[in-house]
Amino acid sequence: MSALQLSVVIPVYNEEAGLDVLFARLYPALDALNLSYEIIFINDGSRDRSAAMLREQFERRPDVTRVVLLAGNFGQHMAIMAGFSRCRGERVVTLDADLQNPPEEIGKLLARMDEGYDYVGGVRQQRQDSSWRRHASWAMNRLRERITHVVMSDQGCMLRAYSREVIAAINNSHEVNTFIPALAYTYARNPGEVQVAHEERAAGESKYSLYNLIRLNFDLVTGFSLVPLQIFSMVGLVLSLLSGLLVVYLGLRRIFLGPEVDGVFTLFAIVFFLLGVVLFGIGLLGEYTGRIYQQVRQRPRYLIEAVLEQTGADQP
Ligand code: UDP
Ligand code: MG
Repeated sequence: MSALQLSVVIPVYNEEAGLDVLFARLYPALDALNLSYEIIFINDGSRDRSAAMLREQFERRPDVTRVVLLAGNFGQHMAIMAGFSRCRGERVVTLDADLQNPPEEIGKLLARMDEGYDYVGGVRQQRQDSSWRRHASWAMNRLRERITHVVMSDQGCMLRAYSREVIAAINNSHEVNTFIPALAYTYARNPGEVQVAHEERAAGESKYSLYNLIRLNFDLVTGFSLVPLQIFSMVGLVLSLLSGLLVVYLGLRRIFLGPEVDGVFTLFAIVFFLLGVVLFGIGLLGEYTGRIYQQVRQRPRYLIEAVLEQTGADQP
């Protein structure tokens, strides 16, 4: 049996409204590529009919479909991890289930890999998202590039292709809250990008609130860089030098001119500002300590409830 050429990994969380359209477009698109493929759906603890629909789809196309049912909601990236650890293809493509990444574009990614890239990220042409999300992600992209040295034109695009080597490296890392596109970037020897079309969500609603997006970006920065801590200690250094000078000045003033009460509110303002800085610093420390805590507990990152695949399928 020749090696499987392509695995498509798709996390699914409460996507019942869009799954049928996804099935109807995905399979023909992959058949048209004329290569051997498998599709791995990971049900991330959906509370709607998604799991049942995936089961039905598995029964319709058991030759190319595998379904991993997780025992709870572990998040998009952990779901993809679960898919990565079971996929067998020489190349692996990730895709969102909501059809924002058109499956017809997979061929483009593979063509780019043929040029010699071992990791190809999709870059969305004309994003169909609200303008505040476009601006927010533009700002976050620039900040992330400066802090983490992970260069991605479009971190939010999950339509990406990975070589077997990159997948193996990802499978060997045991990070808890990670961001897969950035992790892959750190392992890729020759990362590339390609423009892909982008559509509005076919059905259902986004699983990411503003809070989730902020969390995600914190994970992205603290998971890949120590720069925030270093910046913070530099800020601390400068501030303590300045306040040292202030203390000397006030001390001398007290000796030569007597005690002062004027300007006491200015002093309050400075103190409150410093307090804010300190609280932010403690929060930042907490982000890192929290990551360490999660890492040392070594709990499983996800739990698998069941796997639907053809018996006799060779194990990875
Ligand atoms: N998803 C998941 N687990 C979650 C949240 C999302 O598996 O906890 C999946 C979801 O089903 C979709 C993909 O991750 O396939 C991206 O989610 P979504 O489209 O809601 O994100 P957005 O496009 O709004 O960034
Ligand atoms: Mg989406």
